[in-house]
This record gives sequence, C-alpha cells and structure tokens, in this order.
Amino acid sequence: MSLPQILDHSRFNPGYLIGKEWIAVDPGVALDCVDPADGAVIASIGNATPREVDLAVAAARRSLSAAWGDTSPRDRGRALMRWASLVDAQREPLAALEAADTGKPISTARRDIGVVLDYLEFYAGAANKFHGQVLPYYPGFSAQVMREPHGVTAHIIPWNYPASQFARTVAPALAMGNACVVKPSEEASLSVLALTRLAMESGLAAGALNVVTGTGSGAGAALSEHRGIDYISFTGSPETGSRIQAAAARHHIPCCLELGGKSPQIVFADADLDLAIPAIVKGIVQHAGQTCSAGSRLLVAQAIHEAVASRIAEAFNRLRVGTPVMDLDCGPLINRRQKSLVSAAIEGALERGLQVLGQGRLAPGLNPAGNWLAPMAFASVPRQDPLAVEEVFGPVLSVLSFTDEADAIALANDSPFGLVAGVWTRDGARQQRLARGLRCGQVFINCYGGPSGVELPFGGVGRSGHGREKGMLALEHMSIAKTVVQYYGD
Ligand code: NAD
Repeated sequence: MSLPQILDHSRFNPGYLIGKEWIAVDPGVALDCVDPADGAVIASIGNATPREVDLAVAAARRSLSAAWGDTSPRDRGRALMRWASLVDAQREPLAALEAADTGKPISTARRDIGVVLDYLEFYAGAANKFHGQVLPYYPGFSAQVMREPHGVTAHIIPWNYPASQFARTVAPALAMGNACVVKPSEEASLSVLALTRLAMESGLAAGALNVVTGTGSGAGAALSEHRGIDYISFTGSPETGSRIQAAAARHHIPCCLELGGKSPQIVFADADLDLAIPAIVKGIVQHAGQTCSAGSRLLVAQAIHEAVASRIAEAFNRLRVGTPVMDLDCGPLINRRQKSLVSAAIEGALERGLQVLGQGRLAPGLNPAGNWLAPMAFASVPRQDPLAVEEVFGPVLSVLSFTDEADAIALANDSPFGLVAGVWTRDGARQQRLARGLRCGQVFINCYGGPSGVELPFGGVGRSGHGREKGMLALEHMSIAKTVVQYYGD
C-alpha cells in the first residue's frame, strides 16, 4: 500500500519531536514500519536512546516555566481546537496512514480519526470548565481545592488504536496544562507522528508535546523510569503494565494503567437476538479482535444455547478477511508474532478437542506475506479452558453457557480481568442487578461499545488496570488537587 502524502518523506521526515524541533533520526538505528497486509517496509522511525528521552523530558519541563506554563485554560482549549481543525482537514490521509500501518479496514481507520477529532474537541471545550471547589469550613477561614497540572506527563501507547489512544491520553493532559512526552508503539507510530506534525503546524507552544519513537525495552523503559516525569499514562499489556507500575512506585508518582480484558457478553433467554448477535460478532471481530474491550467470552442461557450457537455459526461463516482497502470484516493481524500467538491459542483449543462453531474466510488473492487469520468461534468451551480464561487478542470467540442469573454473574466475574461487560435482556430489574453485580469498569446493556464514547469514563479493575481515561473524569486524573486554607480573621 502506498503511503499517503501526509507522511511522504519529501514533505515529512519522521524524527523525534523535542521542544519545537524535529530531531533527525540516525539511519543506523531506525526501525522499519511494516505493512501487515503484505510485509512491505512502508517507512522507518527512530529508535530513541535514553539521551533523546532525556532531551524530551527536559524540553517538556522547560515549557512549564515558559509560554505553555503561562497559557490560560481558555487558550489551552483554543490550541486544541486549532489542532482539531487541521486534523479535520486531513481526515482521509490520516485514515489511509492508520490503515496502512495497522492493517485495519479503511472504514475502521476513518472512524478512528473521527474519534481523534472527538477527543480534541471534547477536551478543547472542557479545558476551562473543570472547576475547583470552595468548601464550608470554620468562621474566619476560607477553604478551597484548586486543580493543578502534574507537570511532565509520560504517555506510552499501544499499536492497536494508535491515533485515537494518542488523542485520548494527550488531549486531557494538555487541557489541564501538563507538558507531554509520548512514546508510541514501535509497531505503529506513523499516525502519532503525523498528528504531532499537525499539532506543531497549529501553533501548539514549544515543549507542550514531545514525541520519542522506539522500542518498549529501550525508549519506553527509559521514559517510565525517568526521574523527571510526574505521571505515567500507559495503555498496553498487563505484563508491561506491572513494569510501569513498579517504575512509578520507585519514584512515587501516580500512574493510570489501561490493560487487557476477557470481556463477557451475557445473553439471557429474553434477549432480542436480532439486536444482540450482530453487536456480539462486531464486538469480537473489530480490528481482528485486537481490541482491549473485545467481547471474547459469550455466556449464553442454557435455554437458548442452541439457537444462539446456530446464529453465531452463520454469522462467523459469513465473515471475510482482506486488505484495508477491501474494507471487509477484518484485516490482517499486526505482525508475525501476534499471528503466531493467536494461531497457537487456536491450535491448543483444537488439540484439546474443542469444537469449531463457525469460521470466516480469507478473500481470494491475498498476499501470502500478510498476517492473515480467519475469525473463529468455538462451541461449549469448558469454563476453565485457557480459551475461556486467557486474553487471545485475536478474532476468536469462546461460547459458554450458564444456568441462571446468579450463575451468569459468577461466571462473568470469574476472571482476573474486569474491563467491559455486555448484558442482553429485556428485564429491567435484571439489567440493574447485573449492572451492580458485575466486577468491571463499564457495563453495556442491550448494546456494546459505541461509535466513540469520548464522554464516557473508561478503565478497568484487576488485571485490566486502574485509573480512568475519557470523559470529564480524565481531567481529575490529569491534575492534582491542592487544598488551600486561608485565615482572614474572626
Ligand atoms: P505492550 O505492553 O507490549 O506495549 C504497549 C506499549 O508499551 C508500547 O508502546 C511498547 O513499546 C511499550 N513497552 C513495552 N515494554 C515496555 C517496557 N518495559 N517499559 C516501557 N514501555 C514498554 O502492549 P501491546 O502489545 O502494544 O498492546 C496489546 C495489549 O494492550 C493487550 O493486552 C490489550 O488488551 C492492551 N490494550 C488495552 C487497552 C485499554 O484501554 N485497556 C487499549 C489497547 C490495548
């Protein structure tokens, strides 16, 4: 796939953004960006060393006592709005770039760029609407709680939704007046670099946003361990999340961890299956299952198990996999490693005798160098089978059954993860009991996910992480409460 103009090297030579300068990458340490659909190298990015990370953190720190630190909340909002308008004008090339770098269908990439805009616009508007408090206290005293930025915030981003994850974490941080140092995933950094270029064109103050690309064990570790940062926002795997939290603990700073999931979709006998089945299938095959909130466990009431299983089988048999431009149900997986991890989970399930309920197909003529994998649904998966327990991060659905409501809740909660749950029932009282009984960060009732949902706080419990991003709640996380008590006399 050819690269859109926005990242054409004649116009844009990716490097590290430090302060307001793009620092050229030493070609000897550049990392290849590989198209997941055909294995072709489409660009290269820098592999930052601790030295570049140091420079980025120092540039961010300087900005806090320069123009950025003096920018009012209203003008921070205006800066985000100017950035948003440049993104709006470049939607199509940004979507093409995201699709080429991640392999996702072009319509999914277009939606993602729309979500970037949603975040920038939401936090542009919110920047001067997040208020402190005045508290009742003793006579002669005034007591208030002010909100202040953390200072320098580090943002470590995964490869599955790089553009929207970038906007999701950076927009509220900037709205609250922090200075950001971003480390995108080495697997997909191009949209982050292109969006950063637009931020610079929009006139964002020097040092408010800094970007260092590179590996997790190199640039990522150097950033999370850096003494000069005041907060870490991390989205990625639970294993890396533990390392990030340990690094944050070593220098006593807060962190927000958005990790993985094994999210249940719970279907009761009175569910509207015409509504439920398409949403359940989309919830697991979106971006080939490489989505933290993928609904990978389908829990079905025994009474309707056969009916649901046959509709899931039909839906999976209709799924088609192809290139981003073909815009089918799924694209390729991100890289060879991810393909072999997901393939190993499937082979293990087949060796244990699990039965395939339905399976999608690859479009004819795909380049064999692409990381193709057909979506699969497995029937009657035992509760403790690895396929029912572990995050696969691929388009693989496990179907299980439950006896009654208490069993459904117990089964849904029997997981170290707790990110999202879907509940499908027409019974209003049951909807409320489930909403309260499920141990997770968000419950969707008769729907799953949404077109964007920037307004909705998002995050997990347990192995899915802690802290919340999105919505107004993100502004609490991206700031510190300072209590000020003043005695003015009796
Ligand atoms: P990952 O943990 O391998 O990488 C995430 C980021 O961390 C990348 O930028 C990587 O370079 C960096 N990193 C890796 N090792 C590091 C280290 N030692 N120190 C500092 N940084 C390091 O995760 P991934 O493979 O990119 O993403 C997949 C995982 O992310 C899945 O488990 C998925 O569920 C989760 N995820 C969660 C959410 C959410 O919002 N909860 C969203 C997307 C992805």
